[in-house]
Amino acid sequence: MAEADPIRRLIHAFSRLPGIGEKSAARLAFFVLDAEPHVASELAAALTEVRARIRKCSLCQNLTEQDPCRFCADGRRDAGLICVVENVQGLLAIERTGEFRGRYHVLHGRLSPLDGVGPDQIHIRELLGRLAGVTEIIVATSPSVEGEATALYIQRLAGPLGVRVTRIASGVPIGSELEYADQVTLSRALAGRRDL
Ligand SMILES: [Zn+2]
Repeated sequence: MAEADPIRRLIHAFSRLPGIGEKSAARLAFFVLDAEPHVASELAAALTEVRARIRKCSLCQNLTEQDPCRFCADGRRDAGLICVVENVQGLLAIERTGEFRGRYHVLHGRLSPLDGVGPDQIHIRELLGRLAGVTEIIVATSPSVEGEATALYIQRLAGPLGVRVTRIASGVPIGSELEYADQVTLSRALAGRRDL
């Protein structure tokens, strides 16, 4: 029996999510169809609401309901120190260490020329636009080839402007993502940062 178009459309939508292949997408779609109707309506409502209410902070690009976000609005945080992360999960991981009292900048990606991700696809211009009064940028991108390239790129642009650019120590195993690093490892990586 041929699949009806709405099912195919749902499977296709799920298959675009990270880590979801065609088989998993089909499993999710048929789960939704077999479940009580409220499961589907709650999912649809949550998806619509999150897009309607959550936006990027105009300063740091963190995802937030209020602009500026709570980190940028917090006057007790050091505005002269910016920690650059690839994504919000990275921000939350650094925040969980409890040892960083500066501001953040969320790139929403990392340089990856092979995947067509250049400087214009991540929020590097916005970072350069907020460097007045900033003394240090701590680059906490992942210890992958792309993460390192992103860090060096930021150093090349911000260094000549008189900003000290540092990189968190690679206590985080190579290839692993920041968000999966434990707090102790991440605290050490932060404390052991080195100049780029
Ligand atoms: Zn912000």
